[in-house]
Amino acid sequence: MTKLRPNIAAMKGYVPGYQPADESAYIKLNTNENPYPPSPEVARAILAELGPDGGSLRKYPSSSCQRLRETAGELYGFPPSWVIMANGSDEALNNLIRAFAGEGEEIGYVHPSYSYYATLAEVQGARVRTFGLTPDFRIAGFPDCYAGKLFFLTTPNSPLGFTFPLAYIEEIARRCTGMLVVDEAYADFSGDNALDMVRSLDNVVVTRTLSKSYSLAGMRLGLAIARPEVIDSLDKIRDHYNLDRLAQAACGAALRDQTYFRERIRQICATREWFASELRKIGYTVIPSQGNFVFATPADHDGKRVYEGLFARKVLVRHFTDPLLADGVRISIGTREEMELTLAAINEIG
Ligand code: PMP
Repeated sequence: MTKLRPNIAAMKGYVPGYQPADESAYIKLNTNENPYPPSPEVARAILAELGPDGGSLRKYPSSSCQRLRETAGELYGFPPSWVIMANGSDEALNNLIRAFAGEGEEIGYVHPSYSYYATLAEVQGARVRTFGLTPDFRIAGFPDCYAGKLFFLTTPNSPLGFTFPLAYIEEIARRCTGMLVVDEAYADFSGDNALDMVRSLDNVVVTRTLSKSYSLAGMRLGLAIARPEVIDSLDKIRDHYNLDRLAQAACGAALRDQTYFRERIRQICATREWFASELRKIGYTVIPSQGNFVFATPADHDGKRVYEGLFARKVLVRHFTDPLLADGVRISIGTREEMELTLAAINEIG
């Protein structure tokens, strides 16, 4: 295909976690989805938006998502001009690269973390530089002055689950001459977040998703919080109707029902702590996690064996072939019942 841009011809494309056609046949713990349904207010809001005959779908949705920006801004303590809604946080990450990194310019991120940053950079024709981790989960060899146009920090980290301390994130932000994107896809499951840094430092952007903590992966909802000049730039380049009507209705309802949200987070975190301690009892190494998943390594360091043993027992987890990660598996936290069944399967496998 000689007509293609060379970077597109050369790239492989992102490979998402396996989505089986017969989903209900599996305990699905491979893509960090939430095992609980969203707030009951979400279905009510979607049905109300749809109306009896779906007639509202004739009309385009709100382009600006102004009401949602107000709702989210209120929740996180920012004026709406500091918030932009996105069709999944993937869209926000994509538009950040498009806005800040030109062809041939550099973006950086930690490896291992979210490999989609590399795919987005490849599409843009930007260069990628990755930094490894030290044994105590700091960034190996991060320069005093990093001149890449964007640096992505995933915290809590996926797939490992640890968080970077806030003081360390601030230090990294100060060492970046470009933008620091703090990808907080999992922050709702942790005690900390970097939102205050968006106020105090002008190069920090925080991205969030409703896919995990609000059980809305199927609606594609995310957002970014940054200074208004950054938000205005992202606003210029996004698709003008990036959130459909039903997604907007769902998003508002989910964000407003904080009581339901907090209870589900509490349940998932309690299950995570129980599951991690049970795995440790049977000889697994489990990295302390602040996400809705754990990275667990069996004593023989054969992650593929565990993946395959669980797959044969209809439990789907994630195994990465990357040599840094092949020792273990990433297991999303399901309901307590699902995790009890998973633990029984792991006990069978050894
Ligand atoms: N960031 C990280 C670290 C993730 O793991 C994911 C989900 N795979 C995303 C962003 C994207 O989430 P979404 O597009 O569903 O909002």
